[in-house]
Amino acid sequence: MKMLKRIQALKKKNNAIILAHYYQEPEIQDIADFVGDSLELSRRAAGTDADVILFCGVHFMAETAKIVNPDKKVIIPDLDAGCSLADSAPAKEFKDWISKYPNHIVISYINCTAEVKAMSDIICTSANAKKVIESVPKDKKIIFAPDRLLGKYLIKETGRDMVLWHGTCQVHEIFSERELVRLKVKYEKAKVLAHPECDENVLIHADFIGSTSALIKHVSQTNNKEYIIATEPGVIHQMLKQNPEKEFIPLPTNTGCACNKCPHMRLNTMEKILESLENMTHEITLDETLRIKALKPLNRMLEIV
Ligand code: SF4
Repeated sequence: MKMLKRIQALKKKNNAIILAHYYQEPEIQDIADFVGDSLELSRRAAGTDADVILFCGVHFMAETAKIVNPDKKVIIPDLDAGCSLADSAPAKEFKDWISKYPNHIVISYINCTAEVKAMSDIICTSANAKKVIESVPKDKKIIFAPDRLLGKYLIKETGRDMVLWHGTCQVHEIFSERELVRLKVKYEKAKVLAHPECDENVLIHADFIGSTSALIKHVSQTNNKEYIIATEPGVIHQMLKQNPEKEFIPLPTNTGCACNKCPHMRLNTMEKILESLENMTHEITLDETLRIKALKPLNRMLEIV
């Protein structure tokens, strides 16, 4: 309680806003001014009139907030909060890769570094990827990075033949199909909700596939009582808040662990948030030329959706 009061007082003093991703611990989601997925958070970051944005998520998300908000101070509780997808595409390798595909439109999932964004034509999130791909004229070829599994799913959904980078999300790629089948037998009335970063062998069992916010919305808009959740279990906090009478069963990984939490997202803690607000750390800074280049494909995305 004392900590909460100090956080609130520091927020007021610094005119700061706390943005948190759905994969944060429930206590962090509850103190945030806004909780959302990548698309909602980038929109919210672009529209805030706060002087400081404390971003409770991973590095590429805070960096995106800085790209759209050059005049604001963007801070993150733990600088080590990375992402396996963003890390899979180092700038130099990415540059070499896209140079092999001249005349292709480069669509990059928002889970990438500012350098990769700057080399892309359009950015997308899992919430708008289909629309972004469909906005590209049919006679244009596309390369898609960095999530191979999301890319495979989108090829099926859109019928567009895309060249894919080889990255994966270390959380979503290890859900167990075997466990999913076992849970479907045990909870025979449960609906399976999956994020499109999951492997195809999990997605084929899904009753609904969608972005984090789409999954949360789907639960509130349907009458089922039980849901098996094939994404980071942080989303269950919002699902339960909105639907306390429903049951949510997190899908275990293929190592048998039922707690498939993103180790990067979960580096953020209440203690680190307080420290961040006290010291105005850790600040995200970007070279202005790079920022302007990375902003262009982000704006293209925001214009499409
Ligand atoms: S859940 Fe996956 S995609 Fe999201 S931050 Fe963690 S590693 Fe990256």
